Amino acid sequence: MKVLVIGSGGREHALVWKLAQSPRISQMWCAPGNAGISQELLAKNGAQVETVGIGAEDLPQLLAFAKENKVELTVVGPDNPLPLGIVDLFQKNGLRIWGPNQKAAQFESSKVFSQQFMEKYGIPTARAGTFNDPAAAKAFAASLSGHCAVKADGLALGKGVLICSSVDEANRAIDEILVSRHFGAAGSKIVIQEFLEGIEISMHALCDGKTAKLFPTSQDHKRALDGDLGLNTGGMGAYSPAPFLPYANEFPMGGWESILKPWLRGCSAEGIDFHGILYPGIMLTHGGPRVLEFNARFGDPETQVYLTRLENDLLDLIEASIDGTLSPLELKWNPMTSVCVVLASGGYPGNYQKGKPIRGLEEAGKLPNTKIFHAGTAVANGQIVTNGGRVLGVTALGADLRLAREAAYAAVERIQFEGAYFRRDIGAKGLV
Ligand code: AMP
Repeated sequence: MKVLVIGSGGREHALVWKLAQSPRISQMWCAPGNAGISQELLAKNGAQVETVGIGAEDLPQLLAFAKENKVELTVVGPDNPLPLGIVDLFQKNGLRIWGPNQKAAQFESSKVFSQQFMEKYGIPTARAGTFNDPAAAKAFAASLSGHCAVKADGLALGKGVLICSSVDEANRAIDEILVSRHFGAAGSKIVIQEFLEGIEISMHALCDGKTAKLFPTSQDHKRALDGDLGLNTGGMGAYSPAPFLPYANEFPMGGWESILKPWLRGCSAEGIDFHGILYPGIMLTHGGPRVLEFNARFGDPETQVYLTRLENDLLDLIEASIDGTLSPLELKWNPMTSVCVVLASGGYPGNYQKGKPIRGLEEAGKLPNTKIFHAGTAVANGQIVTNGGRVLGVTALGADLRLAREAAYAAVERIQFEGAYFRRDIGAKGLV
């Protein structure tokens, strides 16, 4: 089978790496890919994965490429092409593609849509209101004493959520999004949620329109610095499973079913045919699990820890997700723990420099049970150099969380580039 993967980050490197192990894939491209992706070889015939210089949002070029090269399956990694309708476009042209269509992608592309859906179908979430009028928004924030999360409705590169702890802060956040339009049109509406305390975990479920197969738990680390300090980032590291809750169906108080059942019922009532990954962000509160938001694709860096544990052929699962035949399949997971530590460019998530040569990749990649996923990398003058904020996702398996952390950090220590920084406490929350 000829497969095209869309995207260029660590998540896409993990998707390419795992798909390359399938005995059924004979040719693979990645658009636009990165330096690590173009080093992957297919298990079936040793062919190298080819990177193609087309951006993930360039739908006409992607479609033309898929037609011209007789691509038999396209796998969409990132969120941004989904609300642009890439799945609808490919399907209209008779091409097989994996990911939610435009209507289903609203779970991620509109926080107002998601919040209203959760309220309509009784999915446990935070107390919330949706607004386009700043005065009404401020009155609601004041009723929460300013302890709230103010969220731009649309996609804002993961930066559209402002956590507030006073009325002043909330008013500033509301003005920033609704009045100054800091996030452009993504901020024409907002959701304000009460601030929830608890342990945050990431859930993933593979969906085929009727059935959802739950993954083990994982935990992401959104803030830039140790101790959850600093700015919000795309994610500085992840691990799976979370030892305090290895299986999400063990959720206290209502369990995962209290989220999934009404979600499936709502999808069916609203005519939403969801094929792909449903990835809710969940706060485990004293009152039970509460959904903070929905994403409609794999998390990054959760993908890196999930796919290093997944024992099934990912191609089989993706095909079953497209065809609506997931129900009899069993997801099989390596019982080891996986830890991914992100190496980032100095200055990220603010401004940073690119083009810094990366040393030690080969040596680190040879360590047992270790895989270095590339995110922001490129080749310049025959050398692998930095090309983004998040540069590498150093991922290792261990018999338990402590050993997996040791292995991941042993590999991190072997890699250097100018300005590199990383968190030293990835997974530490799971050890206590
Ligand atoms: P979101 O993109 O909506 O998941 O928000 C980004 C991050 O903000 C989450 O990962 C949480 O850490 C935090 N957050 C969002 N909503 C809330 C809330 N209602 N209470 C507490 N923290 C929140």
